[in-house]
Amino acid sequence: MSIDEALLKRADSKCELCGSSDKLSAYDVPPITIVSLDKSVLVCDTCVGQIEQPETMDANHWRCLNDSMWSAIPAVQVMAWRILNRLKDEGWPNDLLEMLYIEDDVKKWAMADTSIRDVEQPTTDINGAILVAGDAVTLTKDLYIKGANFTAKRGTMIKSISLTDNDYQVEGNINGTRVVLAGRYLKKV
Ligand SMILES: [Zn+2]
Repeated sequence: MSIDEALLKRADSKCELCGSSDKLSAYDVPPITIVSLDKSVLVCDTCVGQIEQPETMDANHWRCLNDSMWSAIPAVQVMAWRILNRLKDEGWPNDLLEMLYIEDDVKKWAMADTSIRDVEQPTTDINGAILVAGDAVTLTKDLYIKGANFTAKRGTMIKSISLTDNDYQVEGNINGTRVVLAGRYLKKV
């Protein structure tokens, strides 16, 4: 099987997940509409075997993601994110997932993997931008805060939100009061 020269060059002829140079092949990261370099990852025999047959996954092999998840290549980030999600019950993969930073559009691609169950839906703001703990947001409308008996004005900035069990809501402090806010009334700053 011939591998695209550009892919070999990008990957320095090594598996982009574990660094092995054994029996390399191009793996097209699904979902694929058009095959392109951007959607391919160079992988070794061991990696591709475990990706295609998740029941054979050996968690220890994937400690390699500790390094490769920091790749600047979105297709590699997507594979790292998906594999860590599959393995997250092991504990350490979940820790890595929490450190893994990927752009919103890459995360959407990563989540478009129907073989992963129980992936939580991201909480999003009024524009569909993914909200994460620590984000700053502004209110997009006046909100009456029940319990504290005041109205928070549109444009009020809430620093350092936290996520809740509800995919549609976050929590934040307004005037020193902890309030639950719907993502659809917020805009990420
Ligand atoms: Zn590999």
